[in-house]
Amino acid sequence: MSSRLAWLGFSLFLLTILGAFAAGRDSDREVADRLIAEALKPSPLETNLRRLTDEVGGRVPGTPAFQRAVDWGVAAFKEAGADSVHTEEFTIQHSWAEGATEMTASLYSGTTFPVRAVSVAWAPALVAARHVPIVDVGEGSAAEFAKVKDIAGRIVLVHTKVLENWDDLFAEYERAPAIIALAVKGKAKAIAFMATRERGILYRHTNSNFGEMDALPQLIVARQDGERIARLLASANPVWADISIPNKVGPAIKTWNVVAEIRGSEKPDEFVVLGAHLDSWELGTGALDNGCNSALVIDALRAIKASGLKPRRSIRFILFSGEEQGLIGSRAYATAHRSELDKAAGVVVFDAGTGKTTGFSTGGRKDVVAAAESLLAPLQQFGAAKAVATAEYGTDHFDFMLEGVPTFVADQEEANYLENYHATTDTFDKVDFAQLKKHVAEAAELSFALANTADRIGPRLNRAQIEQTLHETHLGQPLKDMGVWDDWANGKRGRQH
Ligand SMILES: [Zn+2]
Repeated sequence: MSSRLAWLGFSLFLLTILGAFAAGRDSDREVADRLIAEALKPSPLETNLRRLTDEVGGRVPGTPAFQRAVDWGVAAFKEAGADSVHTEEFTIQHSWAEGATEMTASLYSGTTFPVRAVSVAWAPALVAARHVPIVDVGEGSAAEFAKVKDIAGRIVLVHTKVLENWDDLFAEYERAPAIIALAVKGKAKAIAFMATRERGILYRHTNSNFGEMDALPQLIVARQDGERIARLLASANPVWADISIPNKVGPAIKTWNVVAEIRGSEKPDEFVVLGAHLDSWELGTGALDNGCNSALVIDALRAIKASGLKPRRSIRFILFSGEEQGLIGSRAYATAHRSELDKAAGVVVFDAGTGKTTGFSTGGRKDVVAAAESLLAPLQQFGAAKAVATAEYGTDHFDFMLEGVPTFVADQEEANYLENYHATTDTFDKVDFAQLKKHVAEAAELSFALANTADRIGPRLNRAQIEQTLHETHLGQPLKDMGVWDDWANGKRGRQH
């Protein structure tokens, strides 16, 4: 071969290399666009969610409805084209179901009126207590309790603020344990929290963190009924209540996470998790919380399979159980799979209804923000491309975050989520399907990108680094207020070293 031909050959070789490199760069974007286009196509998303909400209904672990929800998840994952589907069992230490809760208020004059009320979940029963005095403890601070002096044998009425934003919701959970402790100390018979929702909406709330029974019977009373009682008490009209909270409490129950997989083409033992919780409360049908995002997880799997694209790493699509009783299913999963968490490349969770996604929270990690924003760039068209180094407690990423795995929780606008949160009104008609479809595209794109990127987005943090992010994001104090911190501090929860 002449030297001229050799030069030509070398030039062609260089062009080929550069061309391949350029195509490689482009193809990340092309891959993302192809996935997004696939995700936005018509799909069984709406039918799947209608079945889960209207036909299965509210699904508390330990009930036949939850069992039907597991069957729904397994069938829908198979239909969507999963490489494999299985369930993983764990236990919750008690079953709990509400009976026919009743409360009637009576005045000295002989006037009586019904108080619409529901039991707080995982709170003990109180059967047929008659003529129990009600006392008003304001918002339930120590000073307000002290003013009432004697609460023994009485129902303490606690005022609340109308729920307007995410901070109000977190505050409702954070304030409760201190109020319960004061009520227990003063030997109150029960606590009646005024509903944080207006117009008679009742909702299922829990102050128990891990499926344990709460210390005292507790009710959520319709806001206008609670306010009427408060006005009566303030105008020197004593109020008594006949009250019955015949909750059914049982021994430990078995329940299941549903896990589907798309197997990685190059590193199948490394994996990304895309998750949402399958369980819900049962006053409504758990459409916004979190049926819509269970259906999203299934539809994201469908979109990835239908695109024909194969991720380098595996993607595990998980419908968690026991979320509402304290993230029990995702904690059980993280614990059972601890030995392979070095291979977990990221965890993506959606759990805030169908309000528009504004970006993703990185569990307090600043080190993954820039890399995450480059993976999220194709989501700019939805306004969802921001990564923010905030950290939160309330959903299924939490135990993975405490294990040092990079986590990404969708930050979403409140939309209609809070007014319907855990409420009788959380039903199929509240779901914004046009928005949910965009979230399917976001979930498919981000989980695929995390599974397909040449280098993983970030390392698994060690215990000291995790603790550092908890301090930097000021998450420690709320965890202490809710009684969640101890298990981290004593090594029962999260990364060991
Ligand atoms: Zn939820």
